[in-house]
Amino acid sequence: MVLDTFDRPLRNLRLSVTDRCNLRCSYCMPEQDYVWLPREDLLHFEEIERLVDVFIDLGVDKVRLTGGEPLLRRDVPTLVAKLAARPAIRDLAMTTNGVLLAQHAHALRDAGLHRLTVSLDTLHADRFKDLARSDEHHRVLEGIAAAAPLFPGLKIDTVAIRGVNDDELVELIEFGRGYGAEVRFIEYMDVGGATHWAMDRVLPRAEMLATLRTHYGEIAPVQEASSAPADRYRLPDGTIFGIISSTTEPFCHSCDRSRLTADGMWYLCLYAPSGTDLRRALRGGATDAELAELIRSTWSGRRDRGAETRLTERDRSPLIPIDTLRRDPHLEMHTRGG
Ligand code: SAM
Ligand code: SF4
Ligand code: SF4
Repeated sequence: MVLDTFDRPLRNLRLSVTDRCNLRCSYCMPEQDYVWLPREDLLHFEEIERLVDVFIDLGVDKVRLTGGEPLLRRDVPTLVAKLAARPAIRDLAMTTNGVLLAQHAHALRDAGLHRLTVSLDTLHADRFKDLARSDEHHRVLEGIAAAAPLFPGLKIDTVAIRGVNDDELVELIEFGRGYGAEVRFIEYMDVGGATHWAMDRVLPRAEMLATLRTHYGEIAPVQEASSAPADRYRLPDGTIFGIISSTTEPFCHSCDRSRLTADGMWYLCLYAPSGTDLRRALRGGATDAELAELIRSTWSGRRDRGAETRLTERDRSPLIPIDTLRRDPHLEMHTRGG
């Protein structure tokens, strides 16, 4: 096992398979146009597999496919099947916006995907149109309906934003309950790309809990030891939901996650200004042992606690200006994979 400078193990790899997306969520891709990664730079499945095997040897046992929108990557179930064939990956998951899910859900299940998370911020089509600049809300709902029976324990992730969807917390929990899905509310983060972020739009965990207590009564925390970002809670009828308090109460101390972009840049933190170019090493002819050494030495020196550091800053404004994002799209959340 490889530990960083705060004794955090390298265990959890988020694999972005594309930087493209078919939505334009206001908290992630609010601009009119974007600079995309050159297609020739995208890692082929064989290259992804090779890197994943090196990561597995160093202790990674959780892999999540993400993006951009992962279902836009052609043949993604083929990649899922290749990864699912590696028993060392104890947990193989995907996060999707759900638009293309109804048509892919069976293939993903048959390919061996263990778990699925669908992002859903609102139950109202008109709101979705404003939030994600898309008329495809009904397709997200159809995707959830198709996937829920195939992926028991489906998760629904909601970015909770003051003045946008803060009046839907109960509705979303009830919607999830109907599908046996666990809803998790994520605090709005000032990551790269969130150029419309402002502290007063963040709905803190404490406020979410207060709202939910008013409706449901007693809410009990679920006691569990885990490096997972969500704190889980139980409603009086046993329904579980989660809150990811990434902005007001970050969990960097136990963060075992790193991120590989679709073009092979490896980031140790969502907020990290730079990463390690594994594609260059790979295509430059590095052996597996050399790749492993590069990854091991980089992780061993990791000091990142991005969200905690941001918490200490006064007068917070969006993390990265738009012209800087245009110069380096790797700074974008939709490139890093969330
Ligand atoms: N496109 C897929 C989706 O939306 O599910 C996967 C990639 S997306 C970048 C992964 C997750 O990041 C989504 O659940 C999304 O809601 C979350 N996310 C993006 N920007 C965020 C922000 N500014 N604050 C909090 N969560 C954010
Ligand atoms: Fe929305 Fe995900 Fe696309 Fe970002 S990558 S715009 S969060 S659907
Ligand atoms: Fe991990 Fe960085 Fe997020 Fe903290 S801010 S939890 S270190 S990715």
